[in-house]
Amino acid sequence: MLRARRGTARTIVGIMPELRSTDTVTGLLAEIADVGRDRQRGGYSRPVFSTAERDLTGWFIAHAQRRGLDVHTDLNGVIWASSGDLSSGESVVTGSHLDSVPGGGAFDGPLGICSALVAFDRLQQRGFTPLRPLSIAVFPEEEGSRFGVACLGSRLLTGAIDPDRARSLRDADGNTLAEVAAASGLDPRFLGQDDGTLAAVGTFLELHVEQGRGLVDLSKPVGIARSILGHGRWRITVEGQGNHAGSTLMADRRDPMVTAARVVVAVREAALAHPDSRATVGRLTPVPGGTNVIASSVTLWLDVRHPRHEIVATVVQAITTEAGRLAAEEGCRVTVAEESLSGTVQFPTGLRDMLSHTLPGSPLLDSGAGHDAGVLAARVESAMLFVRNPTGVSHSPEEQVEADDAEAGAIALADALQALLTRD
Ligand SMILES: [Zn+2]
Repeated sequence: MLRARRGTARTIVGIMPELRSTDTVTGLLAEIADVGRDRQRGGYSRPVFSTAERDLTGWFIAHAQRRGLDVHTDLNGVIWASSGDLSSGESVVTGSHLDSVPGGGAFDGPLGICSALVAFDRLQQRGFTPLRPLSIAVFPEEEGSRFGVACLGSRLLTGAIDPDRARSLRDADGNTLAEVAAASGLDPRFLGQDDGTLAAVGTFLELHVEQGRGLVDLSKPVGIARSILGHGRWRITVEGQGNHAGSTLMADRRDPMVTAARVVVAVREAALAHPDSRATVGRLTPVPGGTNVIASSVTLWLDVRHPRHEIVATVVQAITTEAGRLAAEEGCRVTVAEESLSGTVQFPTGLRDMLSHTLPGSPLLDSGAGHDAGVLAARVESAMLFVRNPTGVSHSPEEQVEADDAEAGAIALADALQALLTRD
């Protein structure tokens, strides 16, 4: 059941939600506009279990409690705010995440949470009688920006990641997830698949800012997800010979940075050779990382996506083969380790059709970005709504949502939830 076995709801320090008779999505986002601002990168850095992310979850809990929702945190750190008796096993759940990528935008995650709160208000104002309970869920570490595995909370909940492996994941400071979770009030021994919690969920519907230009090109404010591209992350480590930048002749070097640079180019070429694939190296760490030091090793993180997950495997194999060849040319060694892999998700057509009926004119979109809804889809009936992003840019401070579209999204979410809550 959704009942908490540990009371971990945290009282917030600093941000108290204002009491308003009518909250709007834009108004709620304004309340958290100063939390986790990143002065160096721009935008927001709100890694899971950081002060910023904890302040946001505290802010959410206060808003949920103000609405009379019963709030608890489950064994994996997912926060559930619920109304109604969850024992029926048919609850309708909406929600998203509050963590961000480094230097991320204001909407990726929080838009779904703020829209859920506003949709709940609209349903209350409509005064209809739901046939099943409603919950709002906040998933931790959706971005994987701290521990490297995206959708970590939903993967743990659904059993999509081995809990031993999850516990030993480390952040950039060397802290394990087990250590950080324990410091945040979770018992790391209990991380992992939680069938009791899942059994209470009938349907999950996540609203999210669109992370592309689909709705802009179609001139529509809201869309419905058809699929999520197959995607995964790999850690490529190139090992060479650390040495002095001045005294080591060019001919004597085994420089992993040179191999890493060539691998980055090879990644692009591999993606171009497989139409519709997307491959990215967005993060690269040399060790020891000194200006006058030839690196001893370089780690690159590779992200690969394609509508068909078989092609993801083909692209990664091509990159692995080429990286081995390039490393050998430099006298280096290379290893490629999979960090996460998600197959292509096709959202269930019955639920999709119902949403299309409820939200006429809303186009179907394929998502290039991964989401908790895609992970949950393996265990519970899941769907997604997207809200137009006029820049088409995401994971960047340039991410944008117009105020009218944000409110249209919340109304669409309320309409969809109402249909789900009254479904026979
Ligand atoms: Zn997101």
